[in-house]
Amino acid sequence: MTKSVGVSEEILSKTTCPYCGVGCGVIVSRDQGEYKVRGNPDHPANLGRLCSKGAALAETLDDEGRMLHPQINGMQSTWDDAFELMGRRFQEIIAEHGRDSVAMYVSGQILTEDYYVANKLMKGFIGNANIDTNSRLCMSSVVAGQKRAFGSDSVPCCYDDIDRTNLIVLVGSNTAWCHPVIYQRIRQAQKNNPNLDVVVIDPRKTATCDIASMHLAITAGSDALLFNGLLTYLNDKGEVNKPFIDNCVEGSDSALNAAYESSAEMPTLAKKCGLELDELERFYALFARKEKVLTLYSQGINQSSSGTDKVNSIINCHLLSGRIGRPGMGAFSLTGQPNAMGGREVGGLANQLAAHMELENKDHRNLVQQHWQSPYIASKAGYKAVDLFEAILDDKVKALWVIGTNPAVSMPNNNRVKEALSHCEFLVVQDCMQNTDTADLAHVLLPASTWGERNGMVTNSERCISRQRAFREPPGVAMADWQIISKFAQTIGHHDAFDYASSREIFNEYAALSGKENNGTRDFDISACANLDEKAYESFVPSQWPITFKNPVGTPRLFEDGHFFTPSGKAQMIPITPRAAVNPTSDKYPLILNTGRIRDQWHTMTRTGKSPTLSTHFSEAFVQLHPKDAKKYNIIKDDLVSVVSAWGDVTVRAIVTEDIPMGMVFSSMHWNDQYASNALIDSVVNPACDPISGQPEFKHTPVSILPIKKAWYGFLLSRRQLDLSTQDYWNLNKGNGLWRYEIAGNETPKVWSDNARNLLCANEDKVSWMEYFDQSAQTYRAARLVGDKLESCIFISPNPHLPSRDWLMALFAKTSLADKEKMFLLSGRSNDASEDAGANICACFGVGKNTIVKAIKEKNINTVEDIGKSLQAGTNCGSCIPELTALLKEAKNLV
Ligand code: SF4
Repeated sequence: MTKSVGVSEEILSKTTCPYCGVGCGVIVSRDQGEYKVRGNPDHPANLGRLCSKGAALAETLDDEGRMLHPQINGMQSTWDDAFELMGRRFQEIIAEHGRDSVAMYVSGQILTEDYYVANKLMKGFIGNANIDTNSRLCMSSVVAGQKRAFGSDSVPCCYDDIDRTNLIVLVGSNTAWCHPVIYQRIRQAQKNNPNLDVVVIDPRKTATCDIASMHLAITAGSDALLFNGLLTYLNDKGEVNKPFIDNCVEGSDSALNAAYESSAEMPTLAKKCGLELDELERFYALFARKEKVLTLYSQGINQSSSGTDKVNSIINCHLLSGRIGRPGMGAFSLTGQPNAMGGREVGGLANQLAAHMELENKDHRNLVQQHWQSPYIASKAGYKAVDLFEAILDDKVKALWVIGTNPAVSMPNNNRVKEALSHCEFLVVQDCMQNTDTADLAHVLLPASTWGERNGMVTNSERCISRQRAFREPPGVAMADWQIISKFAQTIGHHDAFDYASSREIFNEYAALSGKENNGTRDFDISACANLDEKAYESFVPSQWPITFKNPVGTPRLFEDGHFFTPSGKAQMIPITPRAAVNPTSDKYPLILNTGRIRDQWHTMTRTGKSPTLSTHFSEAFVQLHPKDAKKYNIIKDDLVSVVSAWGDVTVRAIVTEDIPMGMVFSSMHWNDQYASNALIDSVVNPACDPISGQPEFKHTPVSILPIKKAWYGFLLSRRQLDLSTQDYWNLNKGNGLWRYEIAGNETPKVWSDNARNLLCANEDKVSWMEYFDQSAQTYRAARLVGDKLESCIFISPNPHLPSRDWLMALFAKTSLADKEKMFLLSGRSNDASEDAGANICACFGVGKNTIVKAIKEKNINTVEDIGKSLQAGTNCGSCIPELTALLKEAKNLV
């Protein structure tokens, strides 16, 4: 609903951010035709805060690159033709190969209602459970671990616990970058509570360490050992909550026996975990001393071939000490995607049924089938993500429908996944973007609406269900995901079961299912929402499930009564024997590749890659390595390097940093074939999975690294997007009013001047051309001006050490260059050093590194707050505060 709030600004929508599982509420408004996005102070997840990604959402609201029409084999079609073909091909394939030969692969990006109808179609009407989701890649070990411990996939805690605890243990989580608003809430809690300690457990020194009173840089993969050791320590020190264990927990003896067997004496344990004995003892003592302990964990725990065991090793410690079900304590998993939890609720994984019911449970199957009035109900688990693509290669799955995700980028052992997608007899891709690595391989493309255009629910990390609300029309003929799925289902004859007029009708049906014959026997119950009318659905207030008639406003914390959803009603402690990663390092592949997110990009960059603001923090695909490893492998800063595993290779830029431990390299998961020549890191990642959860081991792939020597290196800045795909190396990102390309080649062109003119189209009329060639240094520089306006420029060198791009990029904001700027243009730097702001640190206010360092020195600034007062940096989303702290320390020689 549109509401006028001032002379020119109108509020368009109160919705939620589409990126991470924090689930921040945002207010979208329009002022003089321009969208604006700010944090919603009334949303319980963020209380008005946003991170850099949320704050830049308005920059992504254009139709550039959107898929506008259905397409069949690359030709535009109608919806009717696309559905007719899909219906025919799915039915032919099922008739010839059986109903298990078709599958869906969906996403934590889609809304709960979309997810629900996709599951209903597959599990009830097509009749198999071959529907899995990309949440398999980030959350499935948590699901499996929580189900083993609690009998249900229930996150016990809530964000409010951050304000009520005295110790936060962050394990396997770079919260500052991956869940930035949680990080901001922890910073605030530290200010409010001087007794709050924060321990960060991570082999890397990440931005999150900025708030840590203790950083335990453990040996990669030793988490289960560390928590088994903690379990024995708590037992030895008498930190056992006896009444809770006696009344509410089973399996403590066997879990303790397994922990004692694996953990050894403290000095040995410390050594195995890569820690000093003193560090280990201080951490254990802290955990034992502080009753209110909150352990926040994420992908560093989950993305492992023993991820489920690692989850249970953490939960075991909370169960033994009774630190669960009370304010300020518990094991709290941070979900990756905006609706990862919503997907789990509707049964989005191939081994689940809807509304947290079990595929293996006959009563549950009957109940769901009856609710759906469906001809079938899946009775056995379908293919989990990694297995699904193998099944395509084995010709067991012949037709695949991909919705809202990009497996050609995000799956491990990616070359094989691309092979599977290419091999697939009938591939349908439903997406909002026209060009993704996966869409490029599809037979049928279906245009979906996206954030800002669709209505529905999402559930965040703390079980809080919130509305996403539409505020603009989808472009072309794009439709909501639930509409596309429902129309297809009707095409193949299931008219009544998918005859939905709105997402509200779907949500009501789903909410009713959650309460069916529940009576407190299942954790997921939102039956109080089963009869929402339009007004109630539209004005739905964020609420944490269960939402029942007894608790109609929701339930912040679970297990307060000590009752769990196991057959005995008691929580289960699980015996854990720590296991090494499936693929060990070797002489050939001596380093461990760890992959993850960066601060300002999201997933495969289809949305965040559109934002110039978000493209400055890291502008190029990279690998980070320790200085000693760099020396060992003959690599220096800014070299192009090849990272090679038994599964694939990438060519990326080297960043040498002591933040990475020796023996490990780190690379980000975002870059793909749309943005770089060969930077798809998941082509290097091994396909090993956790045997219980099926979650891939993204955090541990054995690799080697070697420098790549090119004949020349360069960069090119242009107002027009160019096709540089024929260059040997290229990396593209978006700047303010320009495209930035990093390039390199194996052979030096005969005449650089001719080559550059061809690349930049310098032979057109009304173009002036400036160039400079140093024969002895073999450096070449040229600029193309239209009138006095800089249109493009190119800088070439025989080595990777080229001028900073920052000042040159700033010149593109000018409508005409001054004579002095033209004079210095080809030197790549201003004659006035203060005009070069340096690499962007604060994305919100565009404050560069050089500007910050200069202010620190000249104004004798000593605190991050004073940097904010002087330059605004760090005062909006706060995502750059760890980097401001590091710059402050560096400038003051404190490191
Ligand atoms: S923390 Fe950032 S990315 Fe995550 S939901 Fe909030 S604003 Fe969006």
